[in-house]
Amino acid sequence: LNEHVCTTKIALLGTMNVSVIDVAQAAWTSTAAGEDRSYEDALRVSKFMAREGHWTPFAQSFLQFHFHVPIFVARQMMRHNIGIVWNEESRRYVKSEPKINVPLCNEFRSKSETLKQGSGGELPFALSVAAETLLCKHSDDSIKVYNGLLDLGLCPEQARMALPLNTMTNIVGSFNLWSLFNFYKKRIHKTAQVEIQKVAQRIDELVSPISDAWVVLKENRNG
Ligand SMILES: Cc1cc2nc3c(=O)[nH]c(=O)nc-3n(C[C@H](O)[C@H](O)[C@H](O)COP(=O)(O)OP(=O)(O)OC[C@H]3O[C@@H](n4cnc5c(N)ncnc54)[C@H](O)[C@@H]3O)c2cc1C
Repeated sequence: LNEHVCTTKIALLGTMNVSVIDVAQAAWTSTAAGEDRSYEDALRVSKFMAREGHWTPFAQSFLQFHFHVPIFVARQMMRHNIGIVWNEESRRYVKSEPKINVPLCNEFRSKSETLKQGSGGELPFALSVAAETLLCKHSDDSIKVYNGLLDLGLCPEQARMALPLNTMTNIVGSFNLWSLFNFYKKRIHKTAQVEIQKVAQRIDELVSPISDAWVVLKENRNG
């Protein structure tokens, strides 16, 4: 029985200025031309700016998220830095029992023959069961060693050396809208690891219904 199933969770904590009106108003500051403009004007100028790479008006919009993800996913996420601020929980201070993520049997993927960075199709069932069993044992052992080291009186900042990369972590990240789209576009791509593709997909599910400026970026921004 896999007692280490921990689902990745992403929550949208807050937003500021995420509509095309906000984006257009920021752009129109330069000409003081905003007052008499319609929604259609705002939409048109937003699409134009998205297409032509005029990023600063989109970078005046902000979104903050909470991420509950395995450390190996967090490491990939935190490679993105421009226009983004991260804070992460620290096992130097957090005392709760670590949660370790082991995928379900049907989530294991085989090695890819063609893609350098990717993975292939589903691993055959018998091999998936073996992978799940090995990872569950490794997770149980890691937690035992971690707790054993703490019981010896070792400081938490060194005891955490026993924990594997699939230990869950909590991060708060704030993005400007332009940077969020850069993150999304690179991580939804089929060459990105499936686990981070799911993060990108969830971001889109959360942001699309509340931000027409996000939809403009999705439909018009090239790079
Ligand atoms: C599929 C995939 C595979 C990857 N594989 C690896 C890997 O094997 N090893 C590895 O180390 N990394 C890897 N990465 C990470 C990648 O190299 C980037 O560090 C990461 O995607 C962050 O992207 P970014 O630079 O666009 O992000 P941000 O830091 O958010 O930067 C945003 C944009 O700002 C500009 N920018 C940022 N920094 C600079 C700079 N110093 N100089 C000039 N312009 C800058 C760029 O235009 C950049 O797109 C991979 C990423 C992806 C998506």
